Amino acid sequence: MPNQIKEFTPENSGIFWPIEAIGHRPEDYMIRDNLFASLIRDHRGKLFQAMLRKPPPWLPWHVERLASEDRPAALQVLCLQLLYQRQFRDVLDLKEQTWIDRRNKKPIVEAQQCWPRGALVKPADKKSKKYLCHRPRFCPWCHARKVAQLFKHVHDKLIQDPQGKVLVRARVGVSSESIDPTIVNFWFKYMHQGKAKFDYDFFLCNEAHYVSQELKLQLRDRAQYLGLQGGLLTHQVGPWRYRTGGFGFQHVLGLLGEISFSSIEDANQFIVDKFLKIRSSLLWIGKEYQHIEWLALPAGEPQALRFLLAGTSASYDVGKNLPLVGQPDTKPNGDLTDGLAGLLSLEPTYLIRDDRIVQYAQAVK
Ligand SMILES: [Zn+2]
Repeated sequence: MPNQIKEFTPENSGIFWPIEAIGHRPEDYMIRDNLFASLIRDHRGKLFQAMLRKPPPWLPWHVERLASEDRPAALQVLCLQLLYQRQFRDVLDLKEQTWIDRRNKKPIVEAQQCWPRGALVKPADKKSKKYLCHRPRFCPWCHARKVAQLFKHVHDKLIQDPQGKVLVRARVGVSSESIDPTIVNFWFKYMHQGKAKFDYDFFLCNEAHYVSQELKLQLRDRAQYLGLQGGLLTHQVGPWRYRTGGFGFQHVLGLLGEISFSSIEDANQFIVDKFLKIRSSLLWIGKEYQHIEWLALPAGEPQALRFLLAGTSASYDVGKNLPLVGQPDTKPNGDLTDGLAGLLSLEPTYLIRDDRIVQYAQAVK
């Protein structure tokens, strides 16, 4: 991984889509908030943040011909483009034997060609067509397209009659460092009834399946106990660096659902009484408990679904602008100083640059 911004040059920046214009439709704002505020809130997004503050010297030329109010968004799109294109190039340069299964390579090859989202871009050359990879686990632009699709889908399905309903989002981050490996080992053996050999090369892959199956169930149980209905249950996987320097995953489990109340006062009381109490606010992960961040908004609030699904911008003042339900007066549940994280934040997968991408590809299959 290049740690120096000066290492990003026009020659090594891979496929480069210059920006023609910045969109101003609500969906354009939602997508940019989802992609970029995720990385501004995330301590793993430091390189992206540093690039925004001090971009490679040749990059601002590409944004200066746009209207001044569009330049910050254009710079964000270009910086993210550079980070991903460098990753794709570096991992495709890996030796052939690294690709244990050639199918691992395919998503990277496809994501490398994918048309950016978040701005109107010009093709790299006049002949190139608009290609979409449909690989949201590898491609930030298709991640954003998926968020936009889900927004439309859930909006039509979940919020037909918002009267008396509260929308609830749960998020819990679990890193490899906090999961007990013996629990994963035990779970793996139990699931395969001793028929499959435990392979330490694919430990992270097994861990991802454990989280996806076991911990998702725990989160769904909490939601059922609280009376939540409908919605989505998600599991995202991103990179994690151990304090000792080893590589692991950060898993983010998310849940979005709705619950009905006769009044907002009832909703407030219920959420303070139930959501923030031990039984519903912790997830057992073998070594320790992990805290679940619950957030609730009245379903009739115009931006409720958009914010709980895609997140707000990093500068959005949540306490001032949003009628959060059931939040104790002094301390909101979760850190809201950089806006509100949605169900599906962008995981900085561009940080996975070497043959660990093989483990990641196996884990997200
Ligand atoms: Zn794509």
